[in-house]
Amino acid sequence: MKWKQVEIHESRSKLSREEIVKGLLNILPKEQVITDEQTLKENSCDRFRKYPSKGFGIYTLPYPAAVVKVKSTEEVAKVLKFLNENKINCVPRTGSTATEGGLETTVKDSVVVDGSLMKKVIKIDEEAMQVTGECGVILGDLEDKLRSMGYTTGHSPQSKPQAQLGGLVATRSIGQLSTYYGAIEDMIVGVEAVFPDGTITRIKNVPRRSAGPDIRHVIVGNEGTLCYITEVTIKIFKYMPENMVYLGWKIDDMHKGLDIIREIIVSGLRPSLCRVYSEEDAHQHFYAWHEGKCVLTFATEGLASVAKAASEEIIKIVEKYQGVERVDPKLIENWFSNLCWGQDKIDAETADMKANHRLGYTTEVSGTWAVIKQIYDNCIARIKKDFAHMDDITMLGAHSSHSYQNGTNLYFVYDYNINCKPEDEINEYHIPLNAMIVEETLKAGGSMCHHHGIGKYRTEWTKEEHGSAYYILEKLKKTFDPNDIMNKGSIFRDN
Ligand SMILES: Cc1cc2nc3c(=O)[nH]c(=O)nc-3n(C[C@H](O)[C@H](O)[C@H](O)COP(=O)(O)OP(=O)(O)OC[C@H]3O[C@@H](n4cnc5c(N)ncnc54)[C@H](O)[C@@H]3O)c2cc1C
Repeated sequence: MKWKQVEIHESRSKLSREEIVKGLLNILPKEQVITDEQTLKENSCDRFRKYPSKGFGIYTLPYPAAVVKVKSTEEVAKVLKFLNENKINCVPRTGSTATEGGLETTVKDSVVVDGSLMKKVIKIDEEAMQVTGECGVILGDLEDKLRSMGYTTGHSPQSKPQAQLGGLVATRSIGQLSTYYGAIEDMIVGVEAVFPDGTITRIKNVPRRSAGPDIRHVIVGNEGTLCYITEVTIKIFKYMPENMVYLGWKIDDMHKGLDIIREIIVSGLRPSLCRVYSEEDAHQHFYAWHEGKCVLTFATEGLASVAKAASEEIIKIVEKYQGVERVDPKLIENWFSNLCWGQDKIDAETADMKANHRLGYTTEVSGTWAVIKQIYDNCIARIKKDFAHMDDITMLGAHSSHSYQNGTNLYFVYDYNINCKPEDEINEYHIPLNAMIVEETLKAGGSMCHHHGIGKYRTEWTKEEHGSAYYILEKLKKTFDPNDIMNKGSIFRDN
């Protein structure tokens, strides 16, 4: 396994920590430049290190010099220009739900640029069917507002109650209804972003154009390594929950579940919710009724007649297979209604970590239909064979939750008891498990990350992931961030 430790870098700035803070105070009012120790340490990491940090208050990465709470695009431009001119590392932040180390401040005296106060919904355009909001708009709040008007973004990541527009675009996020509505890259219309030299760029809102390459994709998924996203326009759709049809089956085999989903998608059906859970993973979601089986779940939506017809076609396809048993759709509807994670679930997870020294993490990958079963089998087999603390694993499984004409994702989930010091947990458990899944997926020809972004713990494989196309990625970094100040250590191993 080729994983090396996350690298800690000395500051490259000639300015001392105190001078950095002074420089920021020349740009922003005092109350927007935060330097108290508690805030600094909480802003030095994200949920990748949730066990030592949230669980036990152990923060081992360099604390940033300051957290700045920006309130406008112009403020972002001034702050970035100052950081760029003085070679100070910038870590963009909005909803703070990152799971892959993207928020870790691995350079000493970094500055965290927090856009969560930029939460204005600028325009809901009911004719053009699009909404424009600042980077700090919480998706859940936006969704509530739109629903009250009869619309939806169609974007429903599990982190919806907390994730914000800037972070959602920066990580190429995807929601639970993606097979119908698409992922954020399908929803985004236009975007405003600030580059490290302070240049403000705005990509206009049009339905499509062929005016050269699609430059939105320089910004979508940049994980704060190229620019700071300040404003986002996404599509809206009619909200018709009353037409939703839920379906579910117990099935006897994960491979069969993947075959069924493939047949449904290849037939041209687009159920918004479209998932298969392995036996182990099904247990944590459907323990009351899954009886040791895998579980298939679907929802169809749209106009009532269309949703109904699509559900009937899905039933026909699934019930051609042996070893499937239909369940009450209410079970699926109730489960789905409680799938999102707000602060209450995060608090409950923290309490459980502390009390019971155990934890769950995930690694999400993708592959074509031709290799996805091999990825599933190989990842599970590799962990069972090579993971040094297999006795501590209490659950190892996966589900497919986002499907496409040519393939699907696998979301590996693993729970374990922790028998080491809190600060050693990521090295002993999380990093090796994550690495094994990444390695086996790449070996089989899949992608090492489907929707959480690369963050700071898959960078060892960024070149392998991209192959000869890494040339393009590297040029983007050198062109847009020549002083290498944007979120060092994310996406690029040696940026
Ligand atoms: C319980 C839970 C469930 C989740 N479920 C899903 C899911 O269903 N689908 C999914 O895709 N993800 C999911 N995630 C991951 C996470 O929520 C997403 O990656 C989300 O898009 C991050 O948004 P955020 O506003 O919290 O960003 P943050 O956590 O603040 O930042 C995420 C990354 O984006 C960068 N960034 C943030 N703001 C900006 C900006 N304005 N400009 C440039 N870069 C920026 C940061 O530097 C960091 O690298 C889940 C996370 C949790 C904790």
